[in-house]
Amino acid sequence: MIPYGRQDIRQEDIDSVVAALTSDFLTQGPLVPAFEGAVASAAGAKHAVAVNSATSALHIACLALKLGKGDLLWTSPITFVASANVGLLCGAEVDFVDIDPETFNMSADALARKLDAAEKAGRLPKVLMPVHMCGQSCDMEAIGDLAKRYGVRVIEDASHAIGGQFQNQPVGACVHSDIAVFSFHPVKIVTTAEGGVATTNDDTFAERMNLFRSHGVTREPDLMVSDSHGPWYYQQIELGLNYRMTELQAALGVAQMDRLSEYVDRRNQLAERYDAALGNLPLKRPGRLADALSAFHLYVIRVDAEKRRAVFEALRGDGIGVNVHYIPVHLQPYYKALGFREGMFPAAEAYYSQTISIPLYPGLSDNDFAAVVGAIEKALA
Ligand SMILES: *Cc1c(COP(=O)(O)O)cnc(C)c1O
Repeated sequence: MIPYGRQDIRQEDIDSVVAALTSDFLTQGPLVPAFEGAVASAAGAKHAVAVNSATSALHIACLALKLGKGDLLWTSPITFVASANVGLLCGAEVDFVDIDPETFNMSADALARKLDAAEKAGRLPKVLMPVHMCGQSCDMEAIGDLAKRYGVRVIEDASHAIGGQFQNQPVGACVHSDIAVFSFHPVKIVTTAEGGVATTNDDTFAERMNLFRSHGVTREPDLMVSDSHGPWYYQQIELGLNYRMTELQAALGVAQMDRLSEYVDRRNQLAERYDAALGNLPLKRPGRLADALSAFHLYVIRVDAEKRRAVFEALRGDGIGVNVHYIPVHLQPYYKALGFREGMFPAAEAYYSQTISIPLYPGLSDNDFAAVVGAIEKALA
């Protein structure tokens, strides 16, 4: 089976992890800060906070912004469930903003209408979480302007988008947001096996995320609410978790980050080759924003909704590990039990009925690429 996504592990990654394994620190050593430095520098952000998954990073980002009971978080229905779940885990309520059918990202027009209605109803969200679907940035200028106008905080779920750009700025620079989050799961652009990083330019948010990832405990006398008892002393000043990344994960991440631009270039080359090879077939190729460079985590094709299942099954039958990203979150049983219904986010639901993610990863060989294109031609014939 040719998978839809796959990690790229080289000898330098193996050497880096083995060196970490035989070093003095398996956790809380120098490699996590080194990895954070590499991500902050690639993203053009002042701070980077590494944790054990993007889900954890989204969670501590929400905690840093003091999202809690009585608050509201809005995200996109076309995302992995984690984007919405972290809102519920903070005790907040969650709602969704429908997508733009061409980019699959949160629609700035739908957002403007929903914010207007929410202001009139006296129930504005505290946090907005746009998702850079497939690696292409949302229209962050429009979304950021709306968020400022209504006094809403913004966390970018950039799980798909490390190495991408918007208006010539790296995704993660937080030009139009408070915090951005990357995932380092093996199918994403760069991997640490499991891992996530939150970037921000705000000192207070960075400090709060640091606290929440490690039990809410500090050893900094400046942060303590009373005098230190001595050099052994620590104080718990928030209710935190253990979301720390290990040195082994960071060692892999440091080695992988050296190849970030190589990965994004390769993914864009493959996407252009798909654009050309699939151009005459009865399917829709992914839409592009003029002022964004996608990291191309996913290449999504859309086919007639009535044919999607047959095409999907034919491709799987031919050894092509296609997938569907994503089942709209509001249609998951857990969210339906909260009152969400079919028909609430029609663009997201229409997108879902047509979509298939086809293989895209740096090590995709020419033979496998040709096999994917051949199988799609056959399935649509
Ligand atoms: C992968 C992903 C996550 C979760 O990332 P983990 O690192 O697996 O926790 C969250 N949001 C989106 C959009 C993702 O694709």
